[in-house]
Amino acid sequence: RHFLERIKRYDGQLNSVITLTEELALQQAQLADSRLQQGTADALTGIPILHKDIFCTKGIKTTCGSKMLDNFIAPYNATVIDKFESAGAVMLGKTNMDEFAMGSSNETSYYGAVKNPWDIQAVPGGSSGGSAAALAARLAPMATGTDTGGSIRQPAALCNLVGLKPTYGTVSRYGIIAYASSLDQAGPMTHTAEDAGLLLNAMAGFDGKDSTSLERPPEDYTRHLQDSLKGLRIGLPQQYFGDGLNADVAQQLETAIAVLKQLGATVKTVDLPNSHLSVPAYYIIAPAECSSNLSRFDGVRFGYRCENAVDLMDLYKRSRGEGFGAEVKRRIMIGTYALSAGYYDAYYLKAQQIRRLISNDFKQAFQEVDVLLSPTSPTPAFNIGEKVDDPVTMYLSDIYTIAINLAGIPALSIPAGFVQNRPIGLQLIGNYFSESRLLNIAHQYQ
Ligand code: GLN
Repeated sequence: RHFLERIKRYDGQLNSVITLTEELALQQAQLADSRLQQGTADALTGIPILHKDIFCTKGIKTTCGSKMLDNFIAPYNATVIDKFESAGAVMLGKTNMDEFAMGSSNETSYYGAVKNPWDIQAVPGGSSGGSAAALAARLAPMATGTDTGGSIRQPAALCNLVGLKPTYGTVSRYGIIAYASSLDQAGPMTHTAEDAGLLLNAMAGFDGKDSTSLERPPEDYTRHLQDSLKGLRIGLPQQYFGDGLNADVAQQLETAIAVLKQLGATVKTVDLPNSHLSVPAYYIIAPAECSSNLSRFDGVRFGYRCENAVDLMDLYKRSRGEGFGAEVKRRIMIGTYALSAGYYDAYYLKAQQIRRLISNDFKQAFQEVDVLLSPTSPTPAFNIGEKVDDPVTMYLSDIYTIAINLAGIPALSIPAGFVQNRPIGLQLIGNYFSESRLLNIAHQYQ
């Protein structure tokens, strides 16, 4: 009730929640009470949570931030939603997001921009901007997000939170509306590394309903939180500290690095020579996959349908033309072009080859160091409207996060101070399955 009241009182100013599920929340809270009484409670039993509106929730509107799905009531739950339900978490509602998770500022949402509670002139980041703003304003103690190129980590950084993108295949994608399937991963957004570990414990695990889900023994992601950082080898990718990084952000990171050294870490510069190719490769691969994934929205089976279609072609064209926003259309056009006959080898295939080079860069770096440290985003939160007409500048917001998705490795963002009164984040990148080590470092640092 406390959090429901806060959402009702403050979200008018932030626009972070699309759907409030009050009745369900109170029912789930009651169930949690009885579990507590029976002694069958888990770590998350009774803890309120907000879910990004990209997760299908049975019987509840699931919009993905789009007019296309404004009338869509999901007929089933995403695996992640089922898992939180069995853990006894209490779902408060669904959060605002960039349309189909395409964006870095939450300004592409059909439901309007979300405001950053640290400064309401500023964007909260995106695409999981609703989850980030809600958490920062303490409208919920924990939330979920998804990350295709930075959408958990960048909004976490801009709102002073912890956000973790797990190793690809760790969290089931079943029931998560697909953007770019080979990059999409869901993960926790929280205030502390410990909470992130508890959430990941609930979210992770093999799922036969997701063909890219990994079969691995379950682990407790909080088990290393207390470990010492003595002997930890941190690499600073030189390409992530060059031109384009705001000088004040760089300075703050120096302070953070000094703290980690005091805790026993050693630091050296490493090379990721193909870094400059990650944004171009991503903006071929992600749109290509999105053009394919979004072809299902045709006005026939579910979602938006135009009025008075004269024939099938007209139905397709107008339903998609009226249902999708400008950024989504831009990506579908780029992707369709890149996949078309005669261009496939020049663009998509090339991008896939570059993806391998980027992945090899990380492999090489992890021979020398245990983790990499970088800024999460080149600047603190920018103002609402500032980059909205300049897609390329907007795409550069994710310059430090995108390569991680291309390689499939885990990374998290943790709060690292303020620049011009706006929060900034520090990113820790690890080798495959190093989530508990990343959380350990984050916990010791926090
Ligand atoms: N900002 C990036 C994009 O627009 C990443 C989004 C995401 O991670 N979902 O594609």
